Amino acid sequence: MAESSTYDVIVVGAGVFGAWTAWHLAKRKQKVLVLDSYGAAHARASSGGETRIIRMSYGKDEIYTLWSQASLVQWKALAASSGQQLFQQTGVLWMEGKEGGRLRDSQATLHRRGIAHEMMDDAALRKRYPQVNFDGVDRGLLEPWSGVLLARRGVQAVMEEARKNGAEFRIGQVVTPSGRGRLGSIAATGCGTSSAGQFVFACGPWLGKVFPELLAQRIFTTRQEVFFFGTPPGDARFAPPALPTWLFSSDEVYGMPDIESRGLKMARDTHGEKVDPDTQSRIVSGEGAEWARNYVARRFPALKGAPIVETRVCQYENTSNGDFLIDRHPDMPNVWLAGGGSGHGFKHGPALGEYLAAQLSGEGKAEPRFSLASKATQQQRAVY
Ligand SMILES: Cc1cc2nc3c(=O)[nH]c(=O)nc-3n(C[C@H](O)[C@H](O)[C@H](O)COP(=O)(O)OP(=O)(O)OC[C@H]3O[C@@H](n4cnc5c(N)ncnc54)[C@H](O)[C@@H]3O)c2cc1C
Repeated sequence: MAESSTYDVIVVGAGVFGAWTAWHLAKRKQKVLVLDSYGAAHARASSGGETRIIRMSYGKDEIYTLWSQASLVQWKALAASSGQQLFQQTGVLWMEGKEGGRLRDSQATLHRRGIAHEMMDDAALRKRYPQVNFDGVDRGLLEPWSGVLLARRGVQAVMEEARKNGAEFRIGQVVTPSGRGRLGSIAATGCGTSSAGQFVFACGPWLGKVFPELLAQRIFTTRQEVFFFGTPPGDARFAPPALPTWLFSSDEVYGMPDIESRGLKMARDTHGEKVDPDTQSRIVSGEGAEWARNYVARRFPALKGAPIVETRVCQYENTSNGDFLIDRHPDMPNVWLAGGGSGHGFKHGPALGEYLAAQLSGEGKAEPRFSLASKATQQQRAVY
């Protein structure tokens, strides 16, 4: 049945970016409607799944350090107000070989920003974490106050809090708006037509499908496989606090300790094949599983032969260099695009929502790194 309502802002997409944008808009007393095809942090969304890393180290890319810092405060506040555990302070250990320079850059930024950290050489690493094989690692930078966000639970909690603050949330697939000039309304399957003063399309890996002419060549949607390995019975060496969240930068592999008894999580950070988020297979490949088993056996020798107890297949929605996309649609001045989380966006949901809500209200300077104009059609990853 068709219906028509008027809102200050309609947010399309209830992933981490859309949910926090709605939360900040609702806090500003805006009348907000959120629409999502499937639900908040659903199984196909980039924000789905159990856990995401929150770290402050970003090499020289200080803007992301600042956003992480601001976001962690808001994630913790949400945990307190919702009464749910949304963050686990596991510590985050980033490691690199002799050739790397990113950790020194991160160290300088963390120092400048007063963020606690500890640089360790390979001897110190071996002593502190005897359950890990540090071959090829020259140093590690530990952020003791960083850790893991509970992803799906977190996004659903943000949506619930936004709803309590007045935002409406409905399931509906929004039809791509056409034409030029100010947009008045949008249509969504199952929800009829809704009008608003401004629109935010926070469609993550779907942005290229929703705006094919503009974004199909600028958002690179890649398949990412995730594995959980069962730990030996009665063995706490792979759970926090014995093992922190970890990133082996020269291997381009990251993972985290056993959170909520799901096992040791690991995944490759290298970009997989290009996929469609609606239809890609969510079953891991035999080749990927084999690679993961070998990797875990090498880096965590006591887990050689450990069973894979859970898997997930997700997708990154990369921009050309890893900087986010937060900008107006070039042909529709009251339509905003928000996405391009590029494998590192989850943690920044609160800061992104705050930034976007301010932009919509005409406050604050636009950050050039987030502009559509800066998004190329060839990938050259620069932000990690
Ligand atoms: C395996 C993996 C590991 C990651 N690890 C980390 C990490 O450790 N730390 C970190 O910070 N980040 C990490 N990321 C990145 C981060 O999770 C993503 O960048 C972030 O979740 C993207 O959120 P989003 O809201 O932009 O997209 P999504 O969560 O995909 O949300 C977009 C939403 O838009 C909806 N939508 C799309 N089109 C329409 C339409 N036409 N109508 C209605 N609704 C629509 C979709 O249904 C979806 O719910 C990881 C990502 C993956 C896949």
